[in-house]
Amino acid sequence: MRLDKYLCEAGYGTRTEVKKIIKAGLVTHNGTKALRPEQKVMETDQVAVNGQKLSLCTVEYWMLHKPAGCVSATEDRALPTVIDYLPEEARKDLFPVGRLDRDTEGLLLLTNDGKLAHYLLSPRRHVDKVYYARILGKVTEAHVEQFARGLDIGDEKETLPAALHILSSGPESEIQVTIREGRYHQVKRMFEAIDCQVVYLKRLSMGSLILDEALTPGDCRKLTEEELQKLK
Ligand code: URA
Repeated sequence: MRLDKYLCEAGYGTRTEVKKIIKAGLVTHNGTKALRPEQKVMETDQVAVNGQKLSLCTVEYWMLHKPAGCVSATEDRALPTVIDYLPEEARKDLFPVGRLDRDTEGLLLLTNDGKLAHYLLSPRRHVDKVYYARILGKVTEAHVEQFARGLDIGDEKETLPAALHILSSGPESEIQVTIREGRYHQVKRMFEAIDCQVVYLKRLSMGSLILDEALTPGDCRKLTEEELQKLK
């Protein structure tokens, strides 16, 4: 974006007014005086007016370790929402990218970048989502094959192939599963289809974004530049 356009959008006046500010030598771009209104500014650059730093980034990306008991919505009459776990300084227009059930924990991305949300949630894109689950019932190698073939969970179409890994198998089992869709209650319904029940569910990753295990349930942090670049 041009420097003068950026300053207009940041509320420093009309094009004519911001050009005067630039010509007066009040603006720095990455620490150097910027005197050309047409100068190009990148998203990650530092721009300052009178020494006061501005940010071109009007988009924010937060990783939340969603705890159980809150809803993946921006508001709710009765229940806490995932937005309640963001700090005061977070932008007020953030929304969760996709949904986790109320009792599901784990990775949730919150942003105001509609384009990225659309990209990650697009049914055609098949972004991998990895979940850890504790299951009531014995999960077997036969189930691994069924998951790999696709399951009838009562929808129009069977599920896409999913990679099921058994971590422990017994009357209660532990598994990790990778799904490529985001159907309603999908993991729970896949286990119901093999006569098992999910008793605990946690999302570990979504595409390249991996839950930071340093975050305890309810904690959040901004995405690093590296996480963001990989995700886009
Ligand atoms: N599948 C489910 O059943 N629930 C979730 O929250 C996410 C995936």
